[in-house]
Amino acid sequence: MKTNELREAYLKFFESKNCVRRPSDVLVPQDDPTVLFTPAGMNQFKNQFLGIGQLDFTRATTCQKCLRTGDIGNVGVTAYHHTFFEMLGNFSFGDYFKREAIHWAWEFLTDSNWLGLKPERLTVTVYLDDEEAAGIWHNEIGLPLDRITREDERENFWPAEAPSKGPDGVCGPCSEIYYHPPGGGKEVEIWNLVFTQFNRVGDPPDNLRPLPKKNIDTGMGLERTAAVLQGVESNYEIDILRPLCENVGEILETSYQFDGKTGRAIRRITDHARACTFAIHEGVSPGSKEESYIIRLLLRRAFLEGYLLGQKQPFVYQVVPAIVDMMSQPYPELKQTLANVQDTIRAEEENFLGTIERGLGKFEKLVEVAKSSNRKSLPGKEVFDLHQTDGFILDLTFSLAADQGLSIDMEGFRAAETKHKTDSGKGISWGVMAAGPLDELQKSQGETKFLAYEGVTSEAVVVGLIQNGETVESVNHVDLPVDVILNQSPFYAESGGQVGDVGVIRSSRGEIEILDTQKHAGLIVHRGRLTSGEVHLNDSVTAEVDAVKRAGIRRAHSATHLLHHALHQVLGEHATQRGSKVEDDHLRFDFSHGAAVSPDELLKIEDIVNERISEGVPVSTNFMDLKDAKKLGAMALFGEKYPDRVRVVEMGDFSRELCGGTHLDNTGQVGLCRIESEENVAAGVRRIVASTGKKAIERIRNQEGLLKEVATQLKTPQFQELPRKVTQLQEELKTLKQQLDQFTKASVAGSVDDMLKNAEQVGDARVICETLQGVDRETLREYADQLRKQSGSVAILLGADIDGKVALLAAVSKDLVKKGVKAGDCIREAAKVVGGGGGGRPDLAEAGGKDTTKIVDALERGKAVYSEMIAKGAS
Ligand code: ATP
Ligand code: MG
Repeated sequence: MKTNELREAYLKFFESKNCVRRPSDVLVPQDDPTVLFTPAGMNQFKNQFLGIGQLDFTRATTCQKCLRTGDIGNVGVTAYHHTFFEMLGNFSFGDYFKREAIHWAWEFLTDSNWLGLKPERLTVTVYLDDEEAAGIWHNEIGLPLDRITREDERENFWPAEAPSKGPDGVCGPCSEIYYHPPGGGKEVEIWNLVFTQFNRVGDPPDNLRPLPKKNIDTGMGLERTAAVLQGVESNYEIDILRPLCENVGEILETSYQFDGKTGRAIRRITDHARACTFAIHEGVSPGSKEESYIIRLLLRRAFLEGYLLGQKQPFVYQVVPAIVDMMSQPYPELKQTLANVQDTIRAEEENFLGTIERGLGKFEKLVEVAKSSNRKSLPGKEVFDLHQTDGFILDLTFSLAADQGLSIDMEGFRAAETKHKTDSGKGISWGVMAAGPLDELQKSQGETKFLAYEGVTSEAVVVGLIQNGETVESVNHVDLPVDVILNQSPFYAESGGQVGDVGVIRSSRGEIEILDTQKHAGLIVHRGRLTSGEVHLNDSVTAEVDAVKRAGIRRAHSATHLLHHALHQVLGEHATQRGSKVEDDHLRFDFSHGAAVSPDELLKIEDIVNERISEGVPVSTNFMDLKDAKKLGAMALFGEKYPDRVRVVEMGDFSRELCGGTHLDNTGQVGLCRIESEENVAAGVRRIVASTGKKAIERIRNQEGLLKEVATQLKTPQFQELPRKVTQLQEELKTLKQQLDQFTKASVAGSVDDMLKNAEQVGDARVICETLQGVDRETLREYADQLRKQSGSVAILLGADIDGKVALLAAVSKDLVKKGVKAGDCIREAAKVVGGGGGGRPDLAEAGGKDTTKIVDALERGKAVYSEMIAKGAS
């Protein structure tokens, strides 16, 4: 069975069990701080497992894009691990439970209408005391007892070891299904059934309370099951991966074989390239933090694998078209970002090419040191540093070291790694499944009714007050921060790049100033502080958004859509949104584009935006089904999660975007939009900052104000005269400088004569040590030049007080230098006298000092040093 067929069969089978087929969640979740990438199918249903939020179904089935960073080390090594893979799941939220989950899994695997696997090839595990599951497998399915293994909480509980170690919250035993290949190969876990049936409260014993509504969460590996069905020795040999491995083999001019010499490297490159394609498609760029860091790591590792096989140029980007092609049946949207993904990968490869030699250099040094000190292993800390900063992953360093007969001090490595993980805060963790006060509120009160599209004020009732992370009955301490939840609210909570509203919530006995508004699941959370009186639960209040700020936000948001449209017109369709921030009359918009936007293009973009504004086109908003909106060509963001019913914001016939923000009624209301700046933010991503309405006008006024100030200072009231005036001033300045120069030269020439006359004769040479008044360093040098030109053998030391500091300059003619008279040596000694230091070449040296009262002494000292050197040279 082909992989695409298996995916479809699974979803169909569970649809026949009344599970609702849901799309895969995004790979890079924005609203879950506990994970960087989606690690399993259940993540999009976390709230449902906690009993928060409502869905209109209680059974679901999905095929989920997953990425597990914890498995990086396994990739290419085991036959069955990827970083990126797809997980088929079926889920019950307080609906069906263990019996159905087990029976259906068995039916799907063994029934000849579905996968038709031979029952004798399958074994299962259950949790130690899960008699219920063991009973169903043995008595109802008929599995012999010797094919049911009992495992402890480390293996068969979710989260692992939850009963004894926590965290508190939803958890439960699981049951894994293994396939044993014919011919005695190693068995493989293909499916894990998790029975979330407990709420853990505190430490054992008796800390597992049965949940009133029990859940089912199962995950079956798509690639693993495909490998079983296709009878191949690894996941990488299945129909959607083998061709990719072969493609990589061709690019590297070698051929792919599972146990060939380059097999492991090719599998890694293939896996990592696929993972990066999906992540970059969703807007992640390689970088130094969080998701970005993981993608950088994967790309570097893939590139290094190829580099060590002799491929010294970027090549990973070349695999992308084949990946997109292979994955395009389930994920056709990949085609739309193909070029951008390739550009991004290529740029990162080029970037790494710059440090790869350094990394290899560091590695070679480590080897050298180890060998010369007769050690058998490389130090763990340094190996981790190579892994961390140069993209030299442990396994790689491992195999490189093995070639040299060396191992790695793993204890040191692990210690460095653990330290890094703690320092950077975020390892891969399976978020804590415990509900906070907001979750409790949502459970008891339901969602906040959302009125932001209707206006800026409304009557409401206080249904929740949270202070210091706890629900309180009332607030009466002025100035303490408080979160307020209302039954309904006109406040817009920050989302889709638009900032949260500010304003005030007022009751008959008190007032709370709202400084920000955030969303928590279905709740609108007003964050503020009490400014007077007191506010109690169940108080009737008036919620009032700051209408002036809201108007500015609407202008900026509608202008953002106009900007997006103009970017497409001027730069092309690839210039799609990568990020945005909409504030009061101010906007920031990030978009895909490979090069800087030229000043000409920027003008064109600004012109188009302002034309659309002056056309005064109506803005309309409609709710429709996501698939209808997409059919209409509404612009949606990859990597953004949309509900089934979406809001579409349209402007005339030129702009149609999925957007939940607050907009104007007519583009004319923007008034004016000015682009302030354009810059680079990440590889292939540019940023435009612009202002609208009041702020755009303020900005122009400020600039005009500056011009006025300059004009007044230059006594040129007509602005258009300013450039001419500035040119004229610059020319005057130039002439003056030239005159000054000539003047200095002339005056230097005059005093040079005097100095030569006053010079002291030491043997065949002249020594000139003089203090000069009212000179700068440039003039000092001029003196030294003239003196050397006009005198034969000469040693010079000049001193001056320049801006309250001592300046010394020493110069020696060439013939004296040959005799060992050094300007640098002289000045070092002289500088000591004035509490300073300096040095330079034998023929010219400069120094500074602090004590201006000692300049004469310094010159005396210098003269003595010169005389000594000249005497030595003569002897
Ligand atoms: P393993 O012990 O083999 O790493 P797991 O216990 O981590 O698997 P689960 O977290 O239970 O796996 O995930 C459910 C299913 O997803 C597994 O039974 C397997 O089929 C699949 N799966 C898990 N991790 C990977 C991976 N890195 N690559 C491919 N498939 C995977
Ligand atoms: Mg695992």
